[in-house]
Amino acid sequence: MRRAVYPGSFDPVTLGHLDIISRSSKMVDELVVGVLNNSSKNPLFSVEERVTMLEEVTRHLPNVTIRSFDGLLVDFARQCGARTVIRGLRAITDFEYELQMSQTNRIMCPELDTIFLTTDLRYAYLSSSTVREVGRYGGDLSAFVPQKILEQVYKKFREVQ
Ligand code: ADP
Repeated sequence: MRRAVYPGSFDPVTLGHLDIISRSSKMVDELVVGVLNNSSKNPLFSVEERVTMLEEVTRHLPNVTIRSFDGLLVDFARQCGARTVIRGLRAITDFEYELQMSQTNRIMCPELDTIFLTTDLRYAYLSSSTVREVGRYGGDLSAFVPQKILEQVYKKFREVQ
């Protein structure tokens, strides 16, 4: 069985993330989306909220499961029994960091390989931080986050105002 992990902050999940999830889920038997519980990053959404939103938007994908994790990605991948990490590449600016991360992970865990998927051009500009920035100023988020969680995301911005 080929199992892969797709790690990230997903604060919140965007259409770009969902595109990578649905494309990579077709390449493996099981895809575990790993939501990083990194409180030092001071996320807008709690890890539980991020997990729930991902569950809602991936409900139509039967081989996708959502889990949260703390600590090193290599340890999480081992716990999941995965030998493949999926990452998305948007632009050259992502490349340097991603290359360094994947090489570091291979030093720590030589059997772990990273597969990079190039972003769909429709979402090449999109990041969770853009969503947070636009949302904070009351902008329309319908082109950025999945329809199913749109209300929940607007609600969060109303709460933090
Ligand atoms: P962000 O940079 O949006 O905060 P994360 O830390 O949650 O994203 O990133 C998780 C993964 O998703 C990374 O591999 C990142 O490159 C990828 N990713 C983020 N946004 C997009 C996008 N718009 N298209 C494709 N991949 C993306």
